[in-house]
Amino acid sequence: MKSQWNESEAEGFKKSSLELRAYTSRLLGKDSNLVLHGGGNTSLKEKIINIFGEEEEILYVKGSGYDLKVIPPEGFSPARLETLNKLAKLPKLSDTDMVRELKAALIDPSAPTPSVEAILHAIIPFKYVDHTHADAVVTISNTENGEKRIKEIYGDNMLILPYCMPGFVLSKQVYEATLDLDWAKLDGIILLNHGVFTFDDDAKISYEKMITIVNKAESYLEKNGCFKSREDKDAQAIIEAEVVASYRKEVGLIIGQPIIAHLKTDSLSVGLSKRQDMQSIMSRGPVTPDHIIHTKRIPMFATGEVKKDIDLFSSDYQAYFERNKKPSLTCLDHAPRYAVWKNKGILIFGPNKKRVDVVSDITDHTIKCVQWAEALGGWKPLDEGNLFDVEYWELEQAKLKRGAGGSKLEGMVALVTGAASGIGKACALELLNEGACVVAIDINPDIEKMCSNSSYFGMVCDVTHTASIQKVILASIQKFGGLDILISNAGSFPKSSDLSRIDDESWTKAIEMNLTSHMRVLRESIPYLKHGFNPSVVIVASKNVPAPGPGASAYSSAKAGLTQMARVAALELAEHGIRVNVLHPNAVFDTGIWSEEVLNSRAKHYGTTVEGYKRSNLLKAEITSRDVAKAAVAFAGDLFMKTTGAQLPVDGGNERVI
Ligand code: ZN
Repeated sequence: MKSQWNESEAEGFKKSSLELRAYTSRLLGKDSNLVLHGGGNTSLKEKIINIFGEEEEILYVKGSGYDLKVIPPEGFSPARLETLNKLAKLPKLSDTDMVRELKAALIDPSAPTPSVEAILHAIIPFKYVDHTHADAVVTISNTENGEKRIKEIYGDNMLILPYCMPGFVLSKQVYEATLDLDWAKLDGIILLNHGVFTFDDDAKISYEKMITIVNKAESYLEKNGCFKSREDKDAQAIIEAEVVASYRKEVGLIIGQPIIAHLKTDSLSVGLSKRQDMQSIMSRGPVTPDHIIHTKRIPMFATGEVKKDIDLFSSDYQAYFERNKKPSLTCLDHAPRYAVWKNKGILIFGPNKKRVDVVSDITDHTIKCVQWAEALGGWKPLDEGNLFDVEYWELEQAKLKRGAGGSKLEGMVALVTGAASGIGKACALELLNEGACVVAIDINPDIEKMCSNSSYFGMVCDVTHTASIQKVILASIQKFGGLDILISNAGSFPKSSDLSRIDDESWTKAIEMNLTSHMRVLRESIPYLKHGFNPSVVIVASKNVPAPGPGASAYSSAKAGLTQMARVAALELAEHGIRVNVLHPNAVFDTGIWSEEVLNSRAKHYGTTVEGYKRSNLLKAEITSRDVAKAAVAFAGDLFMKTTGAQLPVDGGNERVI
């Protein structure tokens, strides 16, 4: 590990200690080997002049909910140091009292709640205090003889403390351990099974002390041959997509909401899943207790027998709760947060893509640390009782609640065809807006980069080729775990041609694109929709179905056929709870198929101007792609939960349809 301190970069932050504090905090936060997703915390002590003109010493400590990776100066909560130091001297302090007192100690009531480690930061008598959960250090302490090894590596100038519960208890432990200590002689503090503290009156030195400590641990691991690669470089992604979708469904049912499942088939994940001793080493516990709220104590072990695997995990979890429960605690859900799937990789579960990414990052580090420790004599994380206390600690559970999304379509996965423009694009954006994960496909390669949201997955696909459809569906199952909503929209509007002149080729092409391709996408989606949450299909047809126009025989016939296909699908799929509904948009001009040429030609057919043609409906309204997208998303949502086989016009009102 190298220091990331950059003198010229740091120069820009030297105008205030708080800016510099935020800068080195971000240096720590950017290295996932030091802290992950909200882990770790840092602080600054500084004198200020208060509103009465008096001098007061303030602890600026990381505010709850801030991530060191991106923390701004205002992410630090300013609390009166004197009050915090007084709290450290109390013999006891409950969590509720502590949180209240920390908030009451703030000099700005609108500041974020101080970190639960605020009191610990307060009692360390240096201007800058840095705390991380460095992989290398924690891993060494999580081995047989871990404490002995840590002592051997760091010598007498390191304060090494046995594990204890974070919060007030930990502050108290450090307070008592340092009463007769000369702080100036300490290089830092190592909390076994938890992490590292460094401190100094200089921001750079405090940060670099952390790097030095981590370096020593890394060299030790290196010297002991722990970094030998365990990857499976030949890892081939063999995706049993229906089994993945089934795991997703069953786990989601236990959690009580739709969830995302993501299958990791990278060389590290597959490498671990192929180890003979995988189940033994992965059933011992997490790297640090603060991972447990994201990952649970251990993963599920997947064999492909979905119900059996989940039942086993669930009964083990209940037994773990019974062994460790305290009065007043209610058991949390029994669902796994990730699974190691023998020989196949790692399956991650989460209520949304963001939470899946958090668990995915944590497992990457867990896999590494567990295997390093195995090479060092044996992985031995914190015992289950202590882990349980952190898992059921209300202050930890509160962190999850803060990040809860609760969007309408959270955890749902949608596939939208023809999504690079017009109605398809509007549907994709609307679904993302409602919290769904979206697989957007189109023949246009722009689809891949259309959106940077991590819940978005754009792929090139030719919907007239079954193999191309199968490929994207497989990739989307690997990425999001299943399929709940299909918006079958891809289409093309052929050049106007009377029946007396139409050629075979353009007729066939129009039928292929506007009818047969929808059948193909639906057929390939059905196996996954069957495992979906409130699954539904929305077919984008056309006003031309109830009210055809001359010159568009191929298009109108295809869309009429498509509507009929949707009606049959509604009949066939009802037994699986899959709803199929049809939209008949008309005169939506912000779509890919409405070129200037087509517009002119249609206007001519009706003997009107382009502008007149655009608003030629009863309400004289201009219909936009977004109007249609809103209707499509409504069809997929609660409002139409009891509706299937319906056809809804989105056309501003049309005499011929009415
Ligand atoms: Zn910590």
